[in-house]
Amino acid sequence: MSTGARRVAARVAAAVVMATALCATAHQRLAAGTLQPAGTSPAVSAAPSPGGGSATGPGTSPSPGSGTGSGAGAAVVARVAGARETVVSRRAVVAEGAAGRRTVDCRRVKCVALTFDDGPGPYTGELLRHLAAHQARATFFVVGQNVAAHPSVLRRAAAAGHEIGNHTWSHQDLTKLSAGAVRAELARADRAVKAATGFVPALVRPPYGAFDNAVRTGIRRPLVLWSVDTLDWLHRDSARVARVAIRSARPGGVILFHDIHPTTVRAVPRVLKALSRRGYTFVTVSELFGGPPPRLVYTGDAPPRH
Ligand SMILES: [Zn+2]
Repeated sequence: MSTGARRVAARVAAAVVMATALCATAHQRLAAGTLQPAGTSPAVSAAPSPGGGSATGPGTSPSPGSGTGSGAGAAVVARVAGARETVVSRRAVVAEGAAGRRTVDCRRVKCVALTFDDGPGPYTGELLRHLAAHQARATFFVVGQNVAAHPSVLRRAAAAGHEIGNHTWSHQDLTKLSAGAVRAELARADRAVKAATGFVPALVRPPYGAFDNAVRTGIRRPLVLWSVDTLDWLHRDSARVARVAIRSARPGGVILFHDIHPTTVRAVPRVLKALSRRGYTFVTVSELFGGPPPRLVYTGDAPPRH
């Protein structure tokens, strides 16, 4: 795995002390605005996903016996017994399991979730290389018909630990479809992702960020929108995209990009470098919440259409 070479020996006993001494300040910050912390979920989950992929994300990260606050820390450490601890920056502590699966406590470290919509596409492979170079994980909200066209790059993304979310089969505005058509759009994309990766996505991002009560109640999975829109689909300018992302990043943030645009992919190294220097750890959406996100993530103000 990408972080394998950076392992730093640290005993689990030491992690108990650190985990219990620090509290959920980051998650409390997440509670501001419309973003809700994940209830009583701990910010670290070492529960492995069956089969090793992350596409099922929070759906396979149960946290039996975990509590909140320092109790969660102790429970977490118990579950990562045998894991290595890897220090990836002064402020980030990442525990990596034997299978290369890692756990990040976003209550303790500065996390940001980069999300890439509408792929996979011809530039997704290059993006994966950029992310790997910075030990960054991201979340891909994929369009089913693009998955069917580019299954191997999605398989590589999942194998690298990135999270895969459902962005429907054909990118239609779900508020304009019948309940049955919404289900069909999601189900067809689920099947494409499962065929490529072996997993069904646990998260959904509705195209255009568009949803209403019918869409919301008809989809049982978390709807994940964003806190920062780089408007990369509109401004095909790498420097601008990077500037907006860097300037707008906040701990607990979810930043929206589109990896179907080469200008966006070329902006990513600059974003990764600048935010790494500021102490950020790049996590998947599920890592950000340490488990299942709330039903709605960053629905905030009416999001701009793209
Ligand atoms: Zn989209």
